Amino acid sequence: MIDNLLKEIGTPQTIGITGHIRPDGDCVGSVLGMYAYLSNVYKDAKIKVFLEQPPMIYSYLKGYDLIDTTFAYPGQFDVFIALDSGDIERIDAAGKLFLGSKKSICIDHHVSNTGYGDVSHVAPDASSTCEILTHMFEDEYMDVEVAKALYTGIAHDTGVFRYSCVTPETFAALEKLIKYDFDGSKITDETFYQKTYVQNQLLGRTLLESILFMDGKCIAGYVDRKAMEFYEATPQDFEGIVNQLQMTKGVEVAIFMYETGTLEFKVSMRSNGKVNVADVASYFGGGGHVRAAGCNMNGTFHDVLNNLSLHIERQLEAL
Ligand code: 5GP
Ligand code: MN
Repeated sequence: MIDNLLKEIGTPQTIGITGHIRPDGDCVGSVLGMYAYLSNVYKDAKIKVFLEQPPMIYSYLKGYDLIDTTFAYPGQFDVFIALDSGDIERIDAAGKLFLGSKKSICIDHHVSNTGYGDVSHVAPDASSTCEILTHMFEDEYMDVEVAKALYTGIAHDTGVFRYSCVTPETFAALEKLIKYDFDGSKITDETFYQKTYVQNQLLGRTLLESILFMDGKCIAGYVDRKAMEFYEATPQDFEGIVNQLQMTKGVEVAIFMYETGTLEFKVSMRSNGKVNVADVASYFGGGGHVRAAGCNMNGTFHDVLNNLSLHIERQLEAL
């Protein structure tokens, strides 16, 4: 675990920062928050951010335009930091730069994270990686740009301060951040609640075609390739659908999946607490949190659903 982040980082000349594939709000917030913070600390260092192209909704964050989506870098970094990624596979192409650096640091909050890199700081009780960073960062180097990024990440991973992962530590972090002059409700409106027309159409369609099973304890919906092509949808367009499925009375587990290739699905799961979906996802090579997890699976929608249901049912029966 890290006691003093700046001591751990030392006095590097080059720093690389990355997060997980298909970056979400906490990933983008922690990566760009770290970028803005370290830019204030290490004024002469070369700091580079490597990340899969994040949605445009995050373009108000400092450093967004400087993100390197090619992952091509010929040299070795003095320090390389991976954020919000439960395992090294999830940082994808940045893995090579991470492992090849003089010092690799991982900061994360996924319960499935067993630690990787030279130094690893995993706090599964933290609502978000941005919450961890808020407590790690020193006031002296904070500014409004850092605060906006960290606020974005906490808001997204807590469903705008609602989920059970919210603790007094979360509000202590928010207290530190909202002292800075920025419009927090504009951030949550424009990056969390607002949806494009296509996103709302996909949501409506998925809800209409969803199936309720296991005596109403499970709900599942999916979008296949044909529908994705028809709506010209990208994976980012599915954000929030699984959470809406979860808000069905009586449901313990909500499952959403979309087709990534022939007979290949990206699965998202949400639990109301009784079922540990991180365990289910980990069994199929994925991971996440107790109440929010994901994995990649092969087969038809019904094959995938049958395989997942077996594990969910087993957990429900053991209660
Ligand atoms: P989501 O369903 O929103 O994509 O992901 C829910 C949580 O599970 C997130 O914290 C995400 O990082 C994690 N997660 C989703 N898919 C995977 C996966 O394939 N592998 C791992 N290790 N974690 C995942
Ligand atoms: Mn996160």
